[in-house]
Amino acid sequence: MKVHNFSAGPCILPQVVFEKMAQACLDFNNSGTSILEISHRRKDAVEVIDTARALVKDLMNVPETHDVLFMQGGASLQFPTVAYNLLKEGGKAAYAQTGKWAENAIKEAKRFGEIEIVASSKDKNYNYIPKNYTIPTDVDYFHCTSNNTIFGTQIKEFPNSPVPVVCDMSSDILSRKIDVSKFGAIYAGAQKNMGPAGSAVAIVQKDLLGKTGRNIPDYLNWDTHIKKESSFNTWPVIAIYGVMLNLQWLKEQGGVEAIAKINTEKAETVYAEIDRNGLFTGTAETEDRSQMNATFVLNNEILKTEFDELLKEAGVVSLAGHRDVGGYRASMYNALPLESVQVLVEVMKRFEQKFG
Ligand code: PMP
Repeated sequence: MKVHNFSAGPCILPQVVFEKMAQACLDFNNSGTSILEISHRRKDAVEVIDTARALVKDLMNVPETHDVLFMQGGASLQFPTVAYNLLKEGGKAAYAQTGKWAENAIKEAKRFGEIEIVASSKDKNYNYIPKNYTIPTDVDYFHCTSNNTIFGTQIKEFPNSPVPVVCDMSSDILSRKIDVSKFGAIYAGAQKNMGPAGSAVAIVQKDLLGKTGRNIPDYLNWDTHIKKESSFNTWPVIAIYGVMLNLQWLKEQGGVEAIAKINTEKAETVYAEIDRNGLFTGTAETEDRSQMNATFVLNNEILKTEFDELLKEAGVVSLAGHRDVGGYRASMYNALPLESVQVLVEVMKRFEQKFG
């Protein structure tokens, strides 16, 4: 039976990516060697990471002022890395607190200096995006999270900022058009729209670096990875190969603009059903709803077993909400076809016919 995978990440990737990765595990580029047993410095491995970087630049229209690098440690290692690279000794930074991951980013940055929380939606369990807040001029940067994976909210319009904006785009990078020139730094764990788990991407405005006065460990210095073209040390060749393949797939789909249209259609389809169907309620404020993660709850928890059974019969998997929100979460990253969303909507309709 066909499975419809709504996992929040790691998540569905295009089938062709899995097929090519599987083949490369057996025999990479007809070399007689597996991609898992070769040096990251072999010519065809270097080509992989160079192509992946070039594709990020191409698909996101990264300007000359910025550079793209891959590191390990996921988005979580970028939390302290941001502060190491941009928060001056004795300096201050401003953060928007819009969810669990923003909280974690704040926690790590606090080790490095004074953190001012200039906006927060904690009062309503992060079900909205704060607006009309002021970003101070005396901070080194302002940090926000573009898409709050757990709570299903997404920034639709980034604030005007007097200081560089640093953004955790882990769960919506490459899903919609972004003007990279407006950001001092963007970072993301790979395991949603970039590719498989195992790397993080950072897109960094080069002239912001080298100004903190800090003694940064080499690995955590973005400049190291820029200078070494992401080959400072052994990088995960299979994971970056997956990123490269996934980005090639995205380019073949027509790039970010084309996929954004489909993402909008998928989100509109599922939210329309959540709002129409009498048995469910969306948990995020309507205007702040995420196009990547739609969070909703059953109005009557008693029916959970019945709904879960219908989901199972239809092959819908990984729809459970995060424990901090409960209910359900439909994650609709780039590789999830519209067809899967339509199957979910059908199940919701059938559920209403039976129990509404
Ligand atoms: N930020 C956001 C918005 C996320 O969704 C996640 C993970 N789901 C993270 C950070 C943490 O990513 P990682 O597991 O790569 O450290």
